[in-house]
Amino acid sequence: MKNADLENTLQSRIEEAQQTGDKFGLFFLDLDMFKEVNDTLGHSWGDELLQAVSQRLHECLDSKGLITRFGGDEFVVVSDTLNDTGAGELAGKLTDCFQDAFELSGENVRITLSVGISLYPKDGDNAGDLLKNADLAMYDAKAKGRNRYEFFSQSLASQLQEQRTLAAQLHESLNNNEFELVYQPQFDLTSGRIAACEALLRWRPTREVFSVSPGVFIPVAERTDLILHIGRWVMEQACRQVKAWRELGIKIRVDINVSGRELVEPGYFAGLDDCRARYGLEPQDIGIELTENILIKAGSEALEELKKQREKGVEISVDDFGVGYSSLSYLKHFPVSHLKIDRTFLKDAPESAYDGALMEAIVNVGHKLDLFIVAEGVETEEQSRYCQDLKVEYAQGFLYAKPMPARELEKLLMSTN
Ligand SMILES: [Mg+2]
Repeated sequence: MKNADLENTLQSRIEEAQQTGDKFGLFFLDLDMFKEVNDTLGHSWGDELLQAVSQRLHECLDSKGLITRFGGDEFVVVSDTLNDTGAGELAGKLTDCFQDAFELSGENVRITLSVGISLYPKDGDNAGDLLKNADLAMYDAKAKGRNRYEFFSQSLASQLQEQRTLAAQLHESLNNNEFELVYQPQFDLTSGRIAACEALLRWRPTREVFSVSPGVFIPVAERTDLILHIGRWVMEQACRQVKAWRELGIKIRVDINVSGRELVEPGYFAGLDDCRARYGLEPQDIGIELTENILIKAGSEALEELKKQREKGVEISVDDFGVGYSSLSYLKHFPVSHLKIDRTFLKDAPESAYDGALMEAIVNVGHKLDLFIVAEGVETEEQSRYCQDLKVEYAQGFLYAKPMPARELEKLLMSTN
């Protein structure tokens, strides 16, 4: 059935429902990672798989609705009369029936399904809206981890609309130079001097009064290639700044935060090598920060690239340590030099025996693995003393300095170091 036919069928289903007062669901089905499976199997297998999928969907649906192949690996199901709970049940049944492997020419292939649901009449009274909204819900199911179903809602629609607007603004801002790097110093707890600084991204769109928090725009950028463009801008800017400071007689390492997308992007580290070289910098001049979640998910190729950087002398920090998998045993597999303990530990550590015990354990294991420890979020004298007692090497936090523009850090470096 062609898509135009689907729209016609949907339209008559709607007219019928208008007469009877029935409710029904439109289910937008998309195979998870079909492209990857197709690439590994070869295209003739891909077709075989799609046929097997179609057959299984028919069996699963058991004539309780109408199935249409919508696009490459997309299917649309228009259900018979349903209420809200019935729609969830049916979607659950559809995803469940993909838990068993498909047997293709003697080979077992596993593939799962993401499903988005729109309900007539709640989510649309015409074919176009029902399809569009089920499609949005399907993307939501993908974003939430695949192999699941999600319902359309108005809040989902406005959320997605906001994200699209934000993504468009980010694009524009990259061209208009509306980003800025600020620098937060890390202090050596023994000497009291500034040892390095972390480059943090700020976004001040000229059309907005306030800057937009990285917590808001980074996740949006990470969903698209935007994060790669922004990452390149950060890298370039950090290298340029280190060189500018060097020309003023200031030598300081700047650490940049690297996202999961960048880590797996082919050529990312070659780009970093190239950027350093263009500004005449050494590997020691630009450090890298990666969260432990990114490290744990990193494949062997990415880890190999990181290892090469480490061997050249690049300082690599595990960022926000303690809030993710927090697996101390994993640490020895990562080519890292610094462990940045997440601020949540220090927040209560001096008083809370529990957080204190965790903090001590992390510091001890870190030291046994020859890692430098950086305490994040040091805000009080008491926390600072506590870190010094634990022999933590470096501290970053408001007690010492907030993130600041390059000019301000320059003054601070001139007066303290
Ligand atoms: Mg960081």
